[in-house]
Amino acid sequence: MMTQTFVNTLAQRLARPELLDLKPYQSARRIGGQGDIWINANESPYNNAQLAGVSIEGVNRYPECQPPALIDAYAQYSQVSKDCIIAGRGADEAIELLIRTFCIPGNDSIACFGPTYGMYAISAQTFNVGVNALRLTEDYQLPADISSQVGSSKILFICNPNNPTGTVIEKNTLEQVIQQFPNKLVVVDEAYIEFCSSFQSTYSVADLIDKYENLVVLRTLSKAFGLAGARCGFLMANPDICEMVMRVIAPYPVPLPVSEIATNALSPSGIKTMQSQVMSLKQNGVRLSEALVSYGAHVLAANGNFVLAQFVDVEQVQQALAKHGVVARAYNDPRLANCIRFSFTNTQETDYLIRLLDSI
Ligand SMILES: *Cc1c(COP(=O)(O)O)cnc(C)c1O
Repeated sequence: MMTQTFVNTLAQRLARPELLDLKPYQSARRIGGQGDIWINANESPYNNAQLAGVSIEGVNRYPECQPPALIDAYAQYSQVSKDCIIAGRGADEAIELLIRTFCIPGNDSIACFGPTYGMYAISAQTFNVGVNALRLTEDYQLPADISSQVGSSKILFICNPNNPTGTVIEKNTLEQVIQQFPNKLVVVDEAYIEFCSSFQSTYSVADLIDKYENLVVLRTLSKAFGLAGARCGFLMANPDICEMVMRVIAPYPVPLPVSEIATNALSPSGIKTMQSQVMSLKQNGVRLSEALVSYGAHVLAANGNFVLAQFVDVEQVQQALAKHGVVARAYNDPRLANCIRFSFTNTQETDYLIRLLDSI
């Protein structure tokens, strides 16, 4: 007897229905071809990079949608397989792509756990997708009754380590949440994972991507790798999710100069540099945190490249910072009233901040 099995992946079940039949834009680059004379993409034969004072081979041509050298390098670095990785314009673009791929405007919602990174909610709002703004507990953990709170939200955004609190959620807790919601996407934003005590083993859930089809991990080169201006980030998930997101992504999300810079940053020597900078930033972060505590601030455990400090006299601190040319981040969120977030910086600037705190 013949039975017909209709393969229905989670990605297909969650995707916006109009995407199921959508054929992605066939750019000249995607169609490709073989030959020596490339006149298929209305490109220029002239490379004018020199006019901008730089020399970039091939910049007159459209780049690959997913530059293979970059994807190889990130796969090597993250230990996630290549077909589970999408590169784009920062983790912010990945957030937006997930919402655009899976949420029906005016109908679906995402859930996030505040206080947290603001772009999950903003991205959703720009597409008329609802925001189920849930609260982290008093010690910035996921709520115990998470399943009743999440309701029908299609995507859960969990920032780990969390910005702006710097707190971290244990990996087994995250795995339980992933298991608890097999029919929702659980997106773990690991923008600061390199600053976590022992990255890759203790906190990152990237190694669980093979195991759970509903898990998405976000990464970026903006923080530990020091490339915020280059705009390069990664979405990592099982190939079905990636394939669906690739229907929505722009044809050329990674500019050629960016993929060259990013690929170099992910070389063995680039990774070594990143690691030594992370170490030094963390050392300066410890010194800064100690100075903040001596000043009388309450500081949270800092698992990212920043420390959140709560002051009794926040106005006075803000005035002193402003007067001495220090730009740190304050918040409107009532739970973060009297709080200032300080990004870790180099030794010289840290010394300056410590002296300044001493003098207030
Ligand atoms: C900075 C940050 C991002 C944005 O990263 P880009 O790659 O620069 O877009 C995403 N998530 C969190 C939690 C961040 O702090």
